[in-house]
Amino acid sequence: MDDQLNYAPCGFITLSNTGMITDANQTLLNLLKYERGELLNRHIETVMNVANKIFFHTYFYPFIQLNGYVNEIYLTLKNKNDMEVPVLLNGVRKERDGDTYIDCVLIEMRKRIEYERDILSSKRKLEELNQAKDEAHETLKALNEELEKKQEELIKLNRSLEAQASTDGLTGVKNRRSFQESLEGSMSLFNRLQIPFSLLLIDIDYFKRINDTYGHPVGDEVLIKVAKIMQSQSRDIDIVARYGGEEFAIILPDANRDNAVLVAERYRMEIQQGDWGEYNITVSVGVATVSDADDEETIVSRADQSLYTSKSRGRNRVTHSDDRS
Ligand code: GH3
Ligand code: MG
Ligand code: MG
Repeated sequence: MDDQLNYAPCGFITLSNTGMITDANQTLLNLLKYERGELLNRHIETVMNVANKIFFHTYFYPFIQLNGYVNEIYLTLKNKNDMEVPVLLNGVRKERDGDTYIDCVLIEMRKRIEYERDILSSKRKLEELNQAKDEAHETLKALNEELEKKQEELIKLNRSLEAQASTDGLTGVKNRRSFQESLEGSMSLFNRLQIPFSLLLIDIDYFKRINDTYGHPVGDEVLIKVAKIMQSQSRDIDIVARYGGEEFAIILPDANRDNAVLVAERYRMEIQQGDWGEYNITVSVGVATVSDADDEETIVSRADQSLYTSKSRGRNRVTHSDDRS
């Protein structure tokens, strides 16, 4: 074997037709850590582990017998110290001097296999990271959805609490606190923009008698029904509230004295004409229309005095504060 082949940058080995090593170059001997004499006339399986021996029998020999060559076979050889040496093998079958030989070149594949392993492990890590990312994303999405749902529930709850806090429990109209807020709002609109409003205070006449005659629950029914009639008569912008026991207050935005008296008369009539069975229900109404001198207390006080006047003039009537004297 000449030097060029002996020290070529790849291993070279010649096998007999039965797999006996008839020649090997120095590069391969160095790779497998054998002396030439230790390998010559030994079987190729000397440098193979069991798995590779089976592979050689089932694939390498039949293929090369059939086709005369094998290409790019990955093998793991065993060196003299039993260490694994991964190689890539190409082989050809040749006739020389009446005998058949198999010439093979072998290139050490350690680096490439390490690279491939690195690539594979990086790929696996990447897949794991991707999966973790997807899972985190899903969790985040679910949490977000839950948060949105909770927020909606909270908004609904807040609305219902607000409604409860501003509603009279018995009659369902606004309560005194809510009335007070609306009154402040109307007053501030009047002060800033000169938008007028009128206030009605409505008190059921001789209500105590209803309780005394028919019992408190019937009295409650009357209160509920009176509130219903007032609510049905009111515009969207009007504020109908229960002011006290059997007394209601209505704010009529944008209503001057004349409008307010007409509206008050309508409420009075509707209640009087209600279907009350064997008893009569009427109301007395006090009306006041806002003026520059007013604040929240004075307008209520004028409406209250007008209500008192309606009572003292015989009940079931409307009095505007301008008409008291
Ligand atoms: P007036 O015509 O002067 O207004 O006479 P009135 O009997 O209506 O007035 P008074 O102030 O003497 O009585 C009001 C009654 O209203 C007394 C009270 O027991 C009753 N009342 C107050 N709140 C409620 C309630 O929530 N339910 C019932 N059933 N009665 C109530
Ligand atoms: Mg009263
Ligand atoms: Mg009364």
